[in-house]
Formats: sequence, structure tokens, C-alpha cells
Amino acid sequence: MKTDLDSLRSTGSERPVRPQRLLLVDDDARLRNSFRLLLAQPGRDIAEAATVVRALALLQDIEYDLVLLDIGLPDGSGLDVLHWLQKHQPATSVLMVSGQREQDAAVRALRHGALDFLRKPDDLDQLSGRVERTLQRQVLQREHAEMTRQLAKSERLHRFLVERSPDIVYTLDPEGCFVFLNPRIESLLGHDVQATLGRHFAEIVHPDDRLLARYAFAERRSDHRASTNVEIRVLANSAARPDLPPRYLVVAVSALGVYADADAEGSGPRRFLGSYGVIRDITERKRAEETINFQAFHDQLTHLPNRRLFTDRLALALAQAERRGLMVGVMFIDLDRFKLVNDTHGHLQGDELLRSFAQRLRACVRAGDTVARLGGDEFTVLLPDLAKVDDAQAVVRKLLLELEKPFPVGNHDFHATASVGIAIYPRDGLTAVQLIQNADIAMYQVKANGRNGGRLFTPDMNHNYTQRLELENELRRAIVAGEFVAYYQPQVSLLEGCIVGVELLIRWQHPRRGLLLPGEFIDLAEETGLICGLSDWVLDQACRQLVLWRAAGHRRLRVAVNLSPLDLGRADIVERVTGPMRAHAVPFGSLEVEITENMLLQDTPGVMAALDSLRRHGVRISIDDFGTRYSSLNYLQRMPIYALKIDQSFVHDLVPGEPVSPIVQAIVGIARGFDLHLVAEGVETGYQLETLKALGCNEMQGYLIGAPMPAAEMTALLASPLSWPTRPLPLFD
Ligand code: C2E
Ligand code: CA
Ligand code: CA
Repeated sequence: MKTDLDSLRSTGSERPVRPQRLLLVDDDARLRNSFRLLLAQPGRDIAEAATVVRALALLQDIEYDLVLLDIGLPDGSGLDVLHWLQKHQPATSVLMVSGQREQDAAVRALRHGALDFLRKPDDLDQLSGRVERTLQRQVLQREHAEMTRQLAKSERLHRFLVERSPDIVYTLDPEGCFVFLNPRIESLLGHDVQATLGRHFAEIVHPDDRLLARYAFAERRSDHRASTNVEIRVLANSAARPDLPPRYLVVAVSALGVYADADAEGSGPRRFLGSYGVIRDITERKRAEETINFQAFHDQLTHLPNRRLFTDRLALALAQAERRGLMVGVMFIDLDRFKLVNDTHGHLQGDELLRSFAQRLRACVRAGDTVARLGGDEFTVLLPDLAKVDDAQAVVRKLLLELEKPFPVGNHDFHATASVGIAIYPRDGLTAVQLIQNADIAMYQVKANGRNGGRLFTPDMNHNYTQRLELENELRRAIVAGEFVAYYQPQVSLLEGCIVGVELLIRWQHPRRGLLLPGEFIDLAEETGLICGLSDWVLDQACRQLVLWRAAGHRRLRVAVNLSPLDLGRADIVERVTGPMRAHAVPFGSLEVEITENMLLQDTPGVMAALDSLRRHGVRISIDDFGTRYSSLNYLQRMPIYALKIDQSFVHDLVPGEPVSPIVQAIVGIARGFDLHLVAEGVETGYQLETLKALGCNEMQGYLIGAPMPAAEMTALLASPLSWPTRPLPLFD
């Protein structure tokens, strides 16, 4: 408090120092004169009046500090002046000066507010001392009045500050019960101030934080070591919604101890009176902190836990499982062909698919299970305390079933499938790292076996996994080393009975494993993105070879190459195709690219424009494996398609004695309707050939005419007088 007064005092002394003003009211001029001589001082103005009228006139003009007032005045009594002063200028001090006769009046004067009185002439020697004392007392009184005024002002200010404080301001008694609370507790926590006063602080603290709160609130230190900003949760009033779970706010509490002054002797312990402090709402800050923490442990896109959190939880589950002798399941899930969506539809659609997938995955597991996203299209699931191995497999079945419903991607439905590997603690590994890795290996096994399924890890998978990794490395190397070989399969025209084209089918001449078919490496090449390098090689090879055969006299020969969906997603696909054409001077209309239907489903403007541009460059576009994928035919109308290739599976089904599949008839109808060239592949028997011919197929391809063969053999076949070009193939007979 001392400091407050000091500061008030200093504000008081800031006022300009004004002269002291004295007024001498007496009809005796000599007396006034001697008064003046006695009282004159620098910084003091002394005025004189001989009558009541004159005195009042002066007093009305200026405020005097002290009036020396004679009682008996020619035009009235000094008491009249006193009354006037009482009424109009109560701060002015009055010293009555009276003769012996006026004793009674002097007493009356004192009762009416005069400070003192002097008797004439006996007391006049005391005049100077009395005046000084009176003036001094008046200064003190003035200061006091000023101080009271300032105090009132500052108390108003403090009350204002306390009441409008964004923080809860409180004081507690030594027992910890609220003695004072500002209204903020109402707006922040919904507690009524009056109802809360007298209650113990613990009543509004989260049960788990009470120990901490005791430390924060029951602060006995009053110095800088006192507790500041201890974070606890306080209870909001939920009387209005008792149905909802209690709501807590995170606040920072600071407190200081309050003590009574030491006793008069200054000895003995100080008496603890309680504590006071503020409670600050830090929900926002907390939220920001939580977001930061959340981001450190969660995947931004799906909001699922990330690898770090997953590994933590797995390690925890393993420790518990070890103690309680339980099993723990770890699933590794990879979306099949996700890259395709990403590359052809763009990342936004890819992200959308990942989010929806994450949601469905989440829905397949129990609340206690953890679903995490490791990155890309890789997810993991932790199944703590697994009762039996089959429970993990049940989750996989549920997920695969769940995936049968398509995902909307852009304007289309995307049928996602997933490959899932499962590893079980303790059977398949004891550590988190081991289990994740083995689940990953099992997942790879599913991928290698045609995707879309789930498998439990088995130790022999390790071998396959290493092999696959090895294959990936070898594939990279093979592209650089040029270990690929182009095989060609003839395509004959049913109308003309001669070879009109060849399809390039790639082979990998593996240094150890011999000649590998595309089925053994194309998927891997697509997954790893290496396919684009392969396609570049294939395109160059096809153009180079075609020009050689053309130069050798096969002037109408065409060559077809297979492109992967990933190729079409490339921004520079047109240049990739037309570059080799230019380099080898491939004639207009003699290069064909085979693409699969799923590449056309997207309305990606890029794909459409690329295909259009290719067609303008004289590239024919045909749809491979037609009829196996999607039934949407819209694209046939919009896209510059030249031919449809009936999938082998339909051709295989053409057996004597069996009716022709309605699908084949439908495909023939579609080709006719859209005015498209129709090519049959996988033709192995004369019956198939005749049937397809009768159905109106234009061209065919298959072991019946010739299996894929190296270029040299193809050169020979092309040159063979038996089959080319003079007479029709024997099979046409
Ligand atoms: P596809 O484009 O449908 O090629 C036809 C596949 O059927 C070839 O298998 C071919 O050898 C085989 N085939 C041809 N005639 C017959 C027959 O009469 N009966 C039977 N059962 N099969 C026959 P291949 O060469 O193993 O190629 C498999 C697939 O690999 C191809 O299917 C194609 O999708 C892909 N592929 C081949 N070469 C390339 C390439 O250079 N790039 C890309 N992206 N994919 C390629
Ligand atoms: Ca093909
Ligand atoms: Ca095909």
C-alpha cells in the first residue's frame, strides 16, 4: 500500500504551487496592520477588509486559505461571514479574533466551524504560531482530501480492471476457499460468482489435476518464486446441459501468498491470510500446441496416426502382450494401382481417394485398433490383444468386401483393391520393426500374386520378397544395360489373307533367369515407374524395325506397341511417341498404339488432347483387351479410336458346339455401330478363326498364325513365299 500512497502523493505535488492567501477582516486598521507585519511571508498574499460587505465581496472573488475574522464589525457580525464561508467555501479555515465581551459569540463560532479563536489583545502574541499551525493543518487536510479523491478514482480504476479482466481474478482464504472472484468466472466457466464464493477451489478443478492445482492455488510464497502459470483443467458449469459430459477448460493459474504484517515486536512467524492470483484461459494456445503435436504424430491428409505414432503404439502393445501372453496383429495394406489414379487423375483426386480409403479402413476395425498411414498408399493396422489369428484375417475379409463398393473419383467410379499382409506377434516377429517388415513382405507376396487379397506372413516369403527387391534392382540395371528383346507377333487381315501388321511384345533377356515374359516384370515396372523407360525403348525399337521391314518391301506393314496407363499420364507423351517416328521416318498411319480401356475412363483433358494429337500425327489407337474392364462406352464416341481388340478370353470360349457368347456378339455390334476396326487376339483354332470371320472380324492374331517371335524370325516369316504375300495362309482354306 505504501507505494500506492507514494504515487498518489507525487501526483498531488505535481499541481502548481500557488501562493497562500490570507484575509484579515477587522475594522481596526492598526490591528490589521500589525497582523500583516506579523504574518507577512514570501509566497503569501494578505488581503484586508474592514466590513462584512467588503469581506464577502473579496471572498466571492477568490478562495482564501485562512480568514482571520473579527466578530464585531461595523456593518454586522463576523459570524455572518463565517456562515457564508461554511456554506460556500467550507475548505477555508477561519480563525476568530474576539474581544473579551464577545466570549459567547466566539464559542458559537467554534461550533460553526471556526478552527480556533484568539482573544484580543491577550492572545495576539500567539497569533503567528496559531496561524502557521492552522495553515499547516489545512495543507494536510487538502492533501488528504486529494488523496481520498485519487484513491476513489484509483479504486474505481482497479475495480474496472479487475471486473473487465480477461482473466479470472480471485482471492482464497487460508483453507483454499474463494473469498473474491471477478465476474469473468461467469462468462468463462458459467459459474455464478455468489454461488462460487466460499467454495473450495478443488470443486472446479478436473479430478486428475487436483494435486497440481493444490500446488498452484495454495501458494504460500509471496515472492518471485511463487507459482506462475501452472496449467490445469477447470470445470465449466454444465448445469444447463447435464446430459453432456463435463466440459473442461485448460487454464494457467498463478498465485501469490498474502500475509498479515509481523506483530509489533517484528518477531514471530508472519500470519498467512490466503492467496490471490489470476486464472487465464489458454484453450487457444493449447489448441495450437495440440495441433503442432498432432501434426508431429499424424498424417496431414487422412489425419490418421503416422509411422512414428504407429510404431510407438505397437511397441506399447507388444510390451503388454508379452506380460499378458497375448497375440498382436500387424496389417500392412497397399492400395493396388494407386499410382494410376494419381498419374492420370491428378493428385487432388488421388488425395481424395486416399482419404475415403482411410475412412473405410477405419470403419473395418474396432475402436481400440490403430489405423495408420505410413505414406503414399501404404497403411498399417495394429490389432492389439488378438484372440486368434483368424480375427486378423476376418478384418482383411471385411476390408476387401468394403472395397467392392466403388470410390467416386472425379466423375467416375474407381474400383479400388488392396493387397494386405499380416504378421502376428509373437509368431512372426518380436519387435515392432520386425513385425511391420514381415507384414510388408506378406503384402508384397499378395501383389506378386495378382494383388487384391490378404495373406499371413510365412518365413518362405522372405525369400520371395528379397527376390522381388532384387528384381527391381535388376530391372533398373537392365534398362541401362539394354537387356530387353522385342518379339513380334503377326496380325493378319481376314479379308486379304495376309500379314498386315505386327505387335511388339517385350521380353527380358535376364542374365541368370533366361528369357522373361512381360507378366514377370511389367507390373513391377509400372509400380516403380520404370515402365516409362521401357516404353521409350519399345517405341524406338518398333519404329526402327518397321522402317527396315518396309524398306525390305513390306510396304503396307504396320507395327503396334503396348502403352501402359502411366505412359498416357505423362505430359510429354505425344513427343515421346512422335519423336522416334520422326527419327526413323515412320510413314503416316503405320504406327499403332494399344491402350487399355481404363486409361480412357478419366475425362482427363490431357489424355483426350494427347490422343487427338497422336491421331493427327498418323498414329492409330486401338483398345486392347476390349470387353474385360468397363462397360462405359461413352469414350468410344469421343475418343479418336481406330480399332478394338477382342480379349483372348472371349476368343478361347469359342468352342465347337457351344453358342457364341453374347458378349462377343455385343462387341461385334459395338465395333460396327461405332465404325471401328475389329481385331481378335489369342486365336488358336481354325474354328475360332472361322467363327470370328463369320462374325465380321477384320483381323486376327494368335498362335494359329504365329506366336510372338524375334525380329529375325519375323523377317523370315514375312519373306516366306508360303504365307506371304502370294497366297493365303493354309488355315483359310
Ligand atoms: P497383350 O497386349 O494382350 O498381348 C497378348 C499376349 O497374348 C502376349 O503375351 C502374347 O504372347 C499372348 N498370345 C498371343 N497369341 C496367343 C494365343 O494364341 N494364345 C495365348 N494363350 N496367348 C497368346 P505376352 O507377350 O506374355 O504379353 C503379355 C502382356 O504384357 C501383353 O498382353 C501386354 O499387355 C503386356 N506387354 C507386352 N509387351 C509390352 C510392352 O512392350 N509394353 C507394355 N506396356 N506392355 C507389354
Ligand atoms: Ca497388346
Ligand atoms: Ca490383349
